[in-house]
Amino acid sequence: MGRPDVQVVWFKRDLRVRDHAALIAAVDTGAPVLPLYVVEPSLIAHPHTSARHIELVLDGLTDLRESLGALGAPLVVRVGEVGEVLKDLSTQVDIATLHSHEEFGITATWERDRAVAAWCRARGVKYLEHRQSGAMRGLTSRDAWSRQRMKLFNQPLLDAPVAIRPTKVTPGPIPKLSDLGVTAEQMVYRQRGGERTGREVLHTWLTERVPGYERHLSSPVSGLSGCSRLSVHLALGTVSAREVHSRVQARKGEPGSPRFSLNAFEERLAWRDHFAQKLEDAPHIERSSLHPAFDNLRPASANSEALIAFTQGQTGYPMVDAVLRSLAATGWTTFRMRSMVTSFASYDLWLPWQESGRVLARWFTDYDPGIHWPQIQMQSGVTGMNTLRIYDPVKQQLDHDPTGEFVRRWVPELRDVPHSLLATPWLVAADERHGYPEPIVDHPAAVSQAKRRISAVRTQIRGDGSTQALLERHGSRRPPPSRRRK
Ligand SMILES: Cc1cc2nc3c(=O)[nH]c(=O)nc-3n(C[C@H](O)[C@H](O)[C@H](O)COP(=O)(O)OP(=O)(O)OC[C@H]3O[C@@H](n4cnc5c(N)ncnc54)[C@H](O)[C@@H]3O)c2cc1C
Repeated sequence: MGRPDVQVVWFKRDLRVRDHAALIAAVDTGAPVLPLYVVEPSLIAHPHTSARHIELVLDGLTDLRESLGALGAPLVVRVGEVGEVLKDLSTQVDIATLHSHEEFGITATWERDRAVAAWCRARGVKYLEHRQSGAMRGLTSRDAWSRQRMKLFNQPLLDAPVAIRPTKVTPGPIPKLSDLGVTAEQMVYRQRGGERTGREVLHTWLTERVPGYERHLSSPVSGLSGCSRLSVHLALGTVSAREVHSRVQARKGEPGSPRFSLNAFEERLAWRDHFAQKLEDAPHIERSSLHPAFDNLRPASANSEALIAFTQGQTGYPMVDAVLRSLAATGWTTFRMRSMVTSFASYDLWLPWQESGRVLARWFTDYDPGIHWPQIQMQSGVTGMNTLRIYDPVKQQLDHDPTGEFVRRWVPELRDVPHSLLATPWLVAADERHGYPEPIVDHPAAVSQAKRRISAVRTQIRGDGSTQALLERHGSRRPPPSRRRK
């Protein structure tokens, strides 16, 4: 008797058993299923990856192995490049179909997926990529985009399978960080991954924390519990966006539900897909500007003094430095604070957005290329479509840390600076600043120079039709539905 045909489910940014279209499709065939995760050395070494990202994946793998094990087929984990791993597995089992979810990621993962598709074609293995996101492959027009997205989101959620027919392939160990040659980062706090944690976060969000959401979108203090904190789970798929959407609809239907807050949250879930679609439609924006006229605007490599000040949180602007240091130590901040530090890097320090974007990608535990690169470009003024948003770090401090609690926590050198001067410490004597530097640039002067440089490019492209062409291709300047932007 020959070996049975096996369905391989290749887990990537979908580390869950609930609402998992690829897993259900494989189980429904009735054949043995091999659930697989491949820890890829090339992605570990990728300049966007940091130890915190890998740790988050390892949390997810531990959880997933347990859940799949309870269903009959523990997660098989291998370290290696995907092509090599599949080749090796195909000496042990006959792979009939490879299932995965579509991934809207960086060039490296796109090229890897194409190589896997070619491998499958060459060996007569069916490769099925299932949808889990509102973004779409090969979209030719944005016209019906929202409708098509809602069609996917309104389909019933998929329960976890009741049981999975296993193969005889040994699960193999889940590597530790040190096995992968990666050193753990010294963090004050890191969000935990895994489906179980993701479900808890979603539960507390919708049952306890969501009221007043719109008031917490900016503050790095109240945002800690006043924002959903679901980004790490959405980025790694430990909770499906469809499930989040469905739970939001259910909550909205409850009497006395905080509809305004729920609508604001729902809007951001739509932005997530809107931006992923931008990266899918223009994958080059991971490296070059959406509008090519902005490509040579900033120097190709960063001024090293400015880049070091940025990465060490030593710019001399307390709110910028507090956010940068908190990101390095905790991996999370609010949308407004992410925008502010990006604006500071791109306008005040005139750093190439690719370099500051890479620093931030490595710090954000929730790094999600589909959101990250379009946002970095928007906040750096290189799309040719969006209004320039330049943040004044002093105003941001007064508005979003009025008590000084956040800045004093992360910039302890300012302990002796009186409250009235905490946003402008350069006005106190140097010995009261305990080594905290003078501002690296004069914000008003740096910003007016940046505006002049950007205006010159905007004038050059105005009327040449290139912006209109981009709008037609990418749908809108602003995410839909675009009632309001915080
Ligand atoms: C320069 C820059 C880079 C960013 N990079 C990332 C990134 O790598 N990964 C990431 O998840 N978010 C990124 N964001 C978006 C946003 O800041 C975070 O999603 C949010 O702060 C995460 O916290 P939360 O889950 O509590 O968000 P909530 O406010 O509760 O939002 C819920 C979810 O909606 C999505 N979302 C929220 N805001 C946006 C937005 N403006 N655009 C698209 N989707 C959004 C996220 O998936 C988020 O988890 C970036 C923003 C900026 C300005």
